[in-house]
Amino acid sequence: MEPIAEAEAGEASRPMEELLEERGSPQWRWAAARLLFHVYLGFALFTLVGGFLTFPVLTWYIFGDWRFWRHIGPAARLLPHGWIMVFKILKGENGGYMLDVPLTSPPFRSPPTSLARLRRDWGHGASCGGCRRCCEKIACPVLDSETGLCRGYQSFFWRYFNCGRFPTQQRELTYYECPKWELQPTAAARQHRRTRAVQF
Ligand code: SF4
Repeated sequence: MEPIAEAEAGEASRPMEELLEERGSPQWRWAAARLLFHVYLGFALFTLVGGFLTFPVLTWYIFGDWRFWRHIGPAARLLPHGWIMVFKILKGENGGYMLDVPLTSPPFRSPPTSLARLRRDWGHGASCGGCRRCCEKIACPVLDSETGLCRGYQSFFWRYFNCGRFPTQQRELTYYECPKWELQPTAAARQHRRTRAVQF
């Protein structure tokens, strides 16, 4: 399941969403992959031991690596973290979580260019420099506190849920206080109109 890799191979310079649109998105596959992950996550969270009994699956989903013994520490912290995230969602915290990602949307390795762009005053290019705000805001156990790098970079979870596509909404940028990205003016205006339509 690597539509992005296929698309990137030949036409790396073009926006990903454009390529996917032209090729006819295999949306049902993305939806099935996400639904399967939701079921797996529910199994792991509600049984409390499901994630440990299927450690290689868990580490593949989150760290992109079947070799579970390399990730035992951070992987063990995923269970309490998962429950904390469930409570944040139930409380309605406004940061944008995995349930916000449409089931049929393509996986992303960077935000869609039609939605977001680097801020003019951001001095590190595509890199996040030394910033870790979004990971630290939710105390993400996948962040390597020694190196400051994400241990799950480009894993299934990273690409199919919020991380790879961050940011897609202004409320995410506000919540995480991200100094790097801003929404494209057209996308911001669209979201503003939608919010007003809901309010009135
Ligand atoms: S808040 Fe923005 S700049 Fe900081 S780590 Fe997250 S995406 Fe990168």
